[in-house]
Amino acid sequence: MNELPLPPAFRPLGSSGIAVSPLAWGMWRLAEDGRSVADAAKLVHAALDAGITFLDTADIYGFDGQEGLGDAEVLLGEVFAAEPALRDRVVLATKGGILPPLPYDQSRDYLRSAIEDSLRRLQTDVIDLWQIHRPDILAHPHETARVLDDAVAAGKVRALGVSNFTTHQIAALNHFLGEKLATTQPEISPLQINCFENGELDQAMQLGLTPMAWSPLGGGRLTGPKLDREMAVASALDVVADAQGVSRAVAAYSWLLAHPAGIVPIIGSQKPQRIAEGAAALKVRWTRTEWYAVLVAARGERLP
Ligand code: NAP
Repeated sequence: MNELPLPPAFRPLGSSGIAVSPLAWGMWRLAEDGRSVADAAKLVHAALDAGITFLDTADIYGFDGQEGLGDAEVLLGEVFAAEPALRDRVVLATKGGILPPLPYDQSRDYLRSAIEDSLRRLQTDVIDLWQIHRPDILAHPHETARVLDDAVAAGKVRALGVSNFTTHQIAALNHFLGEKLATTQPEISPLQINCFENGELDQAMQLGLTPMAWSPLGGGRLTGPKLDREMAVASALDVVADAQGVSRAVAAYSWLLAHPAGIVPIIGSQKPQRIAEGAAALKVRWTRTEWYAVLVAARGERLP
């Protein structure tokens, strides 16, 4: 059949038993521009009102290159403190393991303290999904796995994920984990298509990992394309966007949702209207012909 199925109302978060909305909302830029707790709460509500219950943050978000980590987590924690009922309405994901000026640290002692620090800043007893943000080449996966398993056994973390890991790094860590990985978070967008052909999504399907797509609009480049390739991809998305009466951003999210791995695009906008708009992606239908047209535009050459 030429028509691809619509996404389901919920996705399983790996085999963790947790169900998430097919779209997530990300807080990379939450702590920018001196945003108040009240304004941050409006963004959380915009996501929830649109049915987006899966929230993605990280201890490094809001880091200004000088002072300590955690600005975005602190802000979200204050939102929860001001309205405690919100915490149970979301599936809360955060990450750690990037430690400036080092690049990365996944040593046992550091990971333990990173998880404790995130719990404190987020003002919560448990993190639903804790992810390693980028791989630390100097950490043995056996040691990393033991700390993560301990965090799950202690009830501090419900499910585990990684971000920016290679397929081999995922396989190695998963081998040593008792509580297997639930998610992987690579960059995926109509402008970043490596994972469609380099095995990352195939591995996710094989291991039952939920792939979360960071920068699903190419960090905003898709809404203001400049390069020839960006413009070609934007035009291919616009064919579907125009036909179905949605924005190009919504068409881009839905293009990712149509992949069989069950990709969860992480909406990066910090504007309530744009977060709310994302929900329309669940109703956009793609044909194989249209889907491949976007891929071919992104590749810049035909498939063999
Ligand atoms: P994105 O959706 O690709 O880009 C969002 C940017 O595009 C925002 O600056 C937004 O500005 C802008 N934009 C312009 N027009 C827009 C429109 N019509 N609709 C929506 N946005 C529009 O995503 P991203 O912010 O780069 O990343 C999304 C999330 O992925 C982050 O919040 C974070 O959770 C995660 N992430 C993870 C990693 C990792 O290493 N794991 C790295 C990067 C990001 P406005 O805010 O003004 O709307």
